[in-house]
Amino acid sequence: MTQQRAYLSLLLVILFGLCGQVHSGVRSYQLIPQQVAPDVYVFEGSREHFNFENGGNIVNTGFIVGVDGVIVIDTGPSKLYGEEMRRAIAKITDKPIVKVFITHLHPDHFLGSQGFANAPVVALPETVVGIKQLGEMFNDAMYRLVGSLMKGTEVIVPEVFDYQPTVDIAGRKLDLIKFSGHSGSDLAILDRSSGVLFAADTVFFERTPTTPQANVDQWIRDLKQLEAVPFKVLVPGHGPVVDDQRAIKQTASYLNWLRESLSRAAEQGRSMAEVLVPDESGNPFFSLAVFWEEYQRSVAHLYPKLEQQAISHGGVEQSQP
Ligand SMILES: [Zn+2]
Repeated sequence: MTQQRAYLSLLLVILFGLCGQVHSGVRSYQLIPQQVAPDVYVFEGSREHFNFENGGNIVNTGFIVGVDGVIVIDTGPSKLYGEEMRRAIAKITDKPIVKVFITHLHPDHFLGSQGFANAPVVALPETVVGIKQLGEMFNDAMYRLVGSLMKGTEVIVPEVFDYQPTVDIAGRKLDLIKFSGHSGSDLAILDRSSGVLFAADTVFFERTPTTPQANVDQWIRDLKQLEAVPFKVLVPGHGPVVDDQRAIKQTASYLNWLRESLSRAAEQGRSMAEVLVPDESGNPFFSLAVFWEEYQRSVAHLYPKLEQQAISHGGVEQSQP
């Protein structure tokens, strides 16, 4: 009986596994542009982690239709995504793609660049260096996480562009705002005529922020600066589009909570195992998408350093008279 059950389970696993593979092999991302202002569109991704079902589409990308060309902001997680994005843009306008900005080095934001062959794909210098160093590793990791939708995806290293705080492209005036808290080099873009701010991953909304390459203190300062930007619509890197300060405030309060609760725990000498399970009572962040996964990832890479600081800080205190 037990053997029969084991056989049945194995059969189910094999069947579902195979079904999943075939299914993801024929699927497309079904990208539908969402208009957020006149001539400004966003492709909103899911609020999940990378998986075979979403094919890595967990990110927000977008485009602005200018007077004589189109400006693209980020290219998504794979060749297929980039190609679908380009086809979706072509259904809205036949104007050429004149510039593709990559906001930062994370794979879901730049691995679709093959879809924009023959268009200038550009990024800040630190982002270009980061993609040169880590791009292939990210691409391999994405294949493992996402599977067949990554087929044929190759790393396209963007070109460094001549940075100016304000630029005129395709008849649109854009403010290019440089931050560094999320990944070391993070570009935000304000389209002045529509008031749409593409905040990229400096802002998350209703989705727990990721911190693997973050400088949390700097990120909180970046958000303070972002509060003063006169936008009408804000497109976060992940999560729904908003027309007010909510997303900025939510990202800042999560980061403040993360920093303070982890620092306090380190000062109290609590172990990482204890910290991995935070107190749920009164914690407003539990409702954010993928809270547990992101929180525990953040603890894993932030907590050892905080423990070290607490120990050396304690050592200094003890040596005081
Ligand atoms: Zn991202």
